[in-house]
Amino acid sequence: MPEGDTIFRAAAALHRALAGDVVTGFDTALAPLARVHDDAPVTGRTVEACESVGKHLLIRFSGDLVLRTHMRMSGSWHLYRPGERWQRRTSSMRVRIDTAAWVAVAFDVPVAEFLTARTLARSRVMTTLGPDLLSDGFDREDALARLSGAGARPIADVLLDQRVVAGIGNVFKSEVLFLCGIHPDRHASRLTADEFGRIVDIAVPLMRANTGAAGSSGIVTYRGLRRTTRQASGEENLWVYGRGGKPCRRCGTTIRMAKRGPDARSTYWCPVCQPEL
Ligand SMILES: [Zn+2]
Repeated sequence: MPEGDTIFRAAAALHRALAGDVVTGFDTALAPLARVHDDAPVTGRTVEACESVGKHLLIRFSGDLVLRTHMRMSGSWHLYRPGERWQRRTSSMRVRIDTAAWVAVAFDVPVAEFLTARTLARSRVMTTLGPDLLSDGFDREDALARLSGAGARPIADVLLDQRVVAGIGNVFKSEVLFLCGIHPDRHASRLTADEFGRIVDIAVPLMRANTGAAGSSGIVTYRGLRRTTRQASGEENLWVYGRGGKPCRRCGTTIRMAKRGPDARSTYWCPVCQPEL
């Protein structure tokens, strides 16, 4: 599942490729988008900006039109040069935006809608988002207030709740809690102000460190290498995520894994480095 850092990278790559250019072609397999395009064509508009807000990707067109997409588990945006062979099946194409220099293709995005500035400002899903960890204007105090008000819920679930803080996904959830030495089952109501501060102060630079170097051409990938350790190799790049049954990199104890929370998302932790208390 793409997290805030990958959406941020994708938005930056799309922005570099498309912003300022005129849309020369638009196609979609999604009927609600096609209806809007029929009435008020996307073709001919200028791409003004591509940006990420939490895990949402917004593409702003001239003439007050915004395309919001959310990748959930399966979606991805790719960038190709005109005529370049796609790396996914044409049948997976949901949205395609052509400019003179690029073809941006959204494959398998489950959430895509057109909005105007007004409907975006009223959109429940967007207005209830917590502070975006990757935003320049990240509001640390607001994030701490929302975290400490999250109540008797496991901190692992709270970190995935985009209304509390926006951007953390399943990988960073496990990695941040390991780095903070906090057991994923501890309830937010039992954490100290110090611990919340540590979570935020570790999560922000960790996620920002993963937003660089998207590559300005070719594929926008969501399976790119994500690093939370200082090791560069693919095998060594995470502390606990995906390492169930393997020894903890710090203490050698066997890493545990359990599926829990509203969507039975996998959670990884070290029982020694992250005591239950
Ligand atoms: Zn350990």
